[in-house]
Amino acid sequence: MTFVGVEAGGTKIVCGAGTGPHDLVDVTTFPTTTPEETTGRISEYVRAHAGGLHAIGVASFGPVDLRPSSATYGFITSTPKPGWNSTDLLGPLRATADVPIGFDTDVNGAALAEARWGAAAQVNSCVYVTVGTGIGGGGYIGGALLHGLLHPEMGHLPVRRQADDDYGGICPYHGACLEGMAAGPAIAARWGSLAQDLTGERLRRAVAVEAGYLAQMAAAMTYLLSPARLIFGGGVLHLEGLLDALRARTTDELNGYIDVPEITDHIDRYIVRPGLGDDAGLLGAIALAADAMS
Ligand code: ZN
Repeated sequence: MTFVGVEAGGTKIVCGAGTGPHDLVDVTTFPTTTPEETTGRISEYVRAHAGGLHAIGVASFGPVDLRPSSATYGFITSTPKPGWNSTDLLGPLRATADVPIGFDTDVNGAALAEARWGAAAQVNSCVYVTVGTGIGGGGYIGGALLHGLLHPEMGHLPVRRQADDDYGGICPYHGACLEGMAAGPAIAARWGSLAQDLTGERLRRAVAVEAGYLAQMAAAMTYLLSPARLIFGGGVLHLEGLLDALRARTTDELNGYIDVPEITDHIDRYIVRPGLGDDAGLLGAIALAADAMS
């Protein structure tokens, strides 16, 4: 079997070939520019790997149209990313290679890869959240990725404002939703410097505020979806002390109501970093390719 995986992000595209974490080859990264140029480069990559190719997987930033019956299936739909509104992502690939194409959100792809090979491989269900320029989440629950009418938009969860926080929020749609309050640009706007440049007392306070918002999401996902693992990745999670603070604040938030030892005794195994590290997205695309075969 040979699969090509495409992790399509808002700032960069990662392509790779293989069947899983142990045989990824030819991993190539290029910037996300115009839709024409970017889909052209993806097609070029697929063409170079067309010999013996069995399937393609695409894990994309969104929002995307995942309804197979829709006329715009495979499109990036209402993204605020300039020039990318209503972009046909899969069309150029279909024209390039006559193989099955798996397609989902980047975060659903990452959840699938983490459930198959990564931090949730032993438990087979997870929610995957990435906190960076934006906040997104996907889930693999009950043996399937989360789809409904559309796909989950976990980053826009409403959150309670914290007592010591008067920041207005950065989401153009909701202001103070989770992404509006806790994505990287919200941290930068609130503190007047990039998250990674914060130090000392400002870092300590920023981490406390951030953990308070992310813990509300962790609790909400626990209540709504009951995953066996909550996986938090993305650049913001590299903030010193944030993961531990998030675990502690989630414990406070749940307040003992979900009384299972997997959470109450082992919060450090319940809320974890991605097991696949930075490869979760690309491996998600590979996993989507594999599943497109069945
Ligand atoms: Zn929002």
